[in-house]
Amino acid sequence: MNNKSTRRKIVAGNWKMNLNSHQAMELVTGISTYLENAELPKHHEAIVCPPMPYLFLVSNSISEELEGKLSVGAQNCYPEASGAYTGEAAPEMIADIGCQYVLVGHSERRKYFGESHDFLAQKVNKLLQTGLTPIFCCGEPLEIREAGTHETYVATQLRESIFHLDATDLARLVIAYEPVWAIGTGKTASPEQAQDMHAAIRNLLAAQYGDELADGVTLLYGGSCKPANAHELFSQKDVDGGLIGGASLKADSFTKLIEILNEVG
Ligand code: PEP
Repeated sequence: MNNKSTRRKIVAGNWKMNLNSHQAMELVTGISTYLENAELPKHHEAIVCPPMPYLFLVSNSISEELEGKLSVGAQNCYPEASGAYTGEAAPEMIADIGCQYVLVGHSERRKYFGESHDFLAQKVNKLLQTGLTPIFCCGEPLEIREAGTHETYVATQLRESIFHLDATDLARLVIAYEPVWAIGTGKTASPEQAQDMHAAIRNLLAAQYGDELADGVTLLYGGSCKPANAHELFSQKDVDGGLIGGASLKADSFTKLIEILNEVG
């Protein structure tokens, strides 16, 4: 098993709570200009996840000709269609303004907003019902890596928030492995560490849903990924691209990552 060459390949930028509206537009324009001129295989896609206030602006700026090449994702959502949830955004609203993806389970949301496995499962369900694609993030903190129990830790994250899905729904997810100790720290997982965990995730998917499904799921690596280390990371046989924080805030580094993913195939 390993169909690396045919799986969907993705470079997704998580802009977090950064940029003003002018900078956000400058960034998406730079990425659009690059993609308008780039020859990319049909199964390669770039995604930008701007802060909520710029989501419509950014999504509205992307030309139809980039459909399938450049998509927009939200960084969060609330798992209800509407109602008295002050400050929240429904998946329906996010879909309505032209987004295709939503990040779920990012370690910053787990840590600062106390998001539980069960709440993440509710978000995943609601997003799938709405026709959006969850990018489900998992990954262990430093003490778990040091204790050597990282595979069990990530297995629990998957089991508690996505393994209730049937095979058709599971196959619609993108999964991002992001070791917490590598996010925003400048400390990247080694290509071997990333590959080992991606292979472990694919094995868990295979045990639960069968080899064929597991082989088709796009697994992204996230954690201080940048042009200087992306080639080695993206070359690993179970790594299908990256979820990028810091290096997604400049058009030249983000587009370089798209180029590197294209080079490694
Ligand atoms: C992230 O927040 O998803 C991330 C990977 O951040 P960074 O690339 O800055 O480590």
